[in-house]
Amino acid sequence: MSNNKSFLTMKLSVFFLGSKPLIVLFLILLSSVACKQDDDKNGSDDPYSVKNRVGSSANDILSEDKFTKLVLEIAYMPGMQLRSGTINATKSFLESRIYKSDGIEVITREVPSGGKSAYSPDDLRTYEDEHRTVFPEENTLTIWICIVDGEYSSPNVLGVAYQNLSCALMGETIVNNSGGLSRPSREKVETVVTLHELGHLLGLVDIGTPMVENHKGKEGHCNNSNCLMYYAVETTEFLSLLFNQPIPELDGNCLVDLENNGGR
Ligand SMILES: [Zn+2]
Ligand SMILES: [Zn+2]
Repeated sequence: MSNNKSFLTMKLSVFFLGSKPLIVLFLILLSSVACKQDDDKNGSDDPYSVKNRVGSSANDILSEDKFTKLVLEIAYMPGMQLRSGTINATKSFLESRIYKSDGIEVITREVPSGGKSAYSPDDLRTYEDEHRTVFPEENTLTIWICIVDGEYSSPNVLGVAYQNLSCALMGETIVNNSGGLSRPSREKVETVVTLHELGHLLGLVDIGTPMVENHKGKEGHCNNSNCLMYYAVETTEFLSLLFNQPIPELDGNCLVDLENNGGR
């Protein structure tokens, strides 16, 4: 078995200081030593496999050496449909970073509840096996994004990239920590989580896209606190970033890495 399977996650913790809730967003990496059947395929060079390690398809997504089209299959459990602004922002993020001359197509559809209050990486894989309908073929690469109707198996995680072409958003945790007068909107939280997880599928940071300059922060993340791929954003900074300002963007080091690995 492999013991280095990594799950790149975005973690949100809520603290209460006095009467005012403060929200801290951590981008953390959880390592799992769980023995998985699909670990055997982690070393596969097959560009059509969707069972490889996070980051291993970075060049295939960024360049069009092998794939000229990308399809995003966005599958949402009941009540977890992404805001239209999130989908638009996701598409433009990818269009500005990757080469796909035959375009980026987004398919959204409702999928049945997985019936759990908390989803483990195994649960996410099993669910994907049963419900994913679009797979890489010929010149088309496909990414599965599932918005589940529960939390992650460890608390306060907003999203996880768990395979080379798969990520999940923890819809219930996002809904419970967005909206209202003092919190960022659901659309902003959904968007920052989606783009962050896609950043991991694009191989950031140093998990499939080599670094031009060293800017490695905590495992799989950037060392720039203003970057989309930073591991942690302080409470007040995060609130102001998401509440009063646009979502964080990729910094210069992350952008250069993507260009250097075949992207824009
Ligand atoms: Zn992360
Ligand atoms: Zn960065």
